[in-house]
Amino acid sequence: MRIEIINTGSELLLGSTINTHGAWLGQELLGLGLRVQRLVTVPDGDPIRDALKESIAVSDAVIVTGGLGPTSDDVTREATAEALGVELIEDEHAVRSLEAFFAKLGRPMTPSNLKQAQHPVGADVLPNPNGTAPGVYVPPRLGDSACAIFLLPGPPHEMHAMYHAEVAPRLKALTEMPADHGVTNIKFSGVGESSFQDMLDAKLHEAGGLEVGYCARPGELDLRLIGSESDRKTAANLAIKTYPQCYVNDDGRSLEATVVHALTEKNLKLALAESCTGGRISSRITDVSGSSAVFTHGYVTYANEAKVAMLGVNEASLEKEGAVSEKVAQEMAEGALRNSGADIALSVTGIAGPTGGTDEKPVGTVWIGISVRKGDQILTSAEMKFYPNGREVFKRLVSQAVLMNILRSTKEV
Ligand code: ATP
Repeated sequence: MRIEIINTGSELLLGSTINTHGAWLGQELLGLGLRVQRLVTVPDGDPIRDALKESIAVSDAVIVTGGLGPTSDDVTREATAEALGVELIEDEHAVRSLEAFFAKLGRPMTPSNLKQAQHPVGADVLPNPNGTAPGVYVPPRLGDSACAIFLLPGPPHEMHAMYHAEVAPRLKALTEMPADHGVTNIKFSGVGESSFQDMLDAKLHEAGGLEVGYCARPGELDLRLIGSESDRKTAANLAIKTYPQCYVNDDGRSLEATVVHALTEKNLKLALAESCTGGRISSRITDVSGSSAVFTHGYVTYANEAKVAMLGVNEASLEKEGAVSEKVAQEMAEGALRNSGADIALSVTGIAGPTGGTDEKPVGTVWIGISVRKGDQILTSAEMKFYPNGREVFKRLVSQAVLMNILRSTKEV
């Protein structure tokens, strides 16, 4: 199925709004086994009609975002009717829905909102429970076109909800999608793209017909496999067996969501003691709904006095070994474990830079401590990592390493 996306809005080309719809839709469609062939961004006005004419002539389905509002620059409906060579009509049901939406907000509906209840003759109105702009579905073989057209509102939360409720089911029906969509995404952390490529790429390609793709972000690598179910299974097993310590998941969730899930499954409580990451890791954990069941304490101990006062780190250790040291990382983790009563505690202490490095401890040095309860015992250790990648990437990579440590610990406890 050939699919094209048209993102409309002058603000996208002026740079005042970042176009996230293209990327979001690309990922969602891939999840259905569909690939976007072309992504076009056009300003408001006539270019929408011209882009649509071009796309519907060569596509099986076109998704258009934005320009369904009540203002004069919102012309996607008009442009679609023109491109198809059909009239626009007002939809009674859509008018009632708009009235009900405004009544719920306690605001009067303006005459210009009525324009939002229009759609090309023969098209369906797609309900929008989250906003005023209903969407439109033009089935194939309407007017001059053999292409299915979806018009979706611009605001991301409205567009996402309408895609899931109205677009994905119709696309599935149009393509008579089999249950297996042919795409597997596997997330790894702690292995670089080039190492992965050198170690595995040739072997993954041995299963002829399998398409292998990579998407790397700081501290994370997605392996994308497209092909038959058995080829994907064989390749996925091989990749996971080669890098078991780096495997995160194959279900599309974030690393932090996977960590919270693993802690919940094992009924384990987590505490964190952060110095150089300033709370970043705690923040990522608490981004996950349900984290309150597993995350008890997040200590941000940036100054030495805070490490002593909140975690019971020895002043002598700080003086002798320095704050960025194996000993202090261990004492931070153990202090966090004892003070919080958690089952697992992790600590980080490092030099994010650009200043503060020495020959002995250059910028990018970080010690990660871990303390876990095993029966009556407390086992504590620490490892050093080196991320001389600038302050922002340093923090990201440290948080990735800590989250991976937690994930691995949940498997061992
Ligand atoms: P409205 O009723 O809000 O006018 P609309 O369907 O006309 O809805 P637009 O006016 O095009 O949508 O966009 C509304 C808002 O949605 C924009 O201000 C912008 O914040 C966001 N938006 C639109 N298109 C995109 C996009 N491609 N990527 C990210 N955000 C977008």
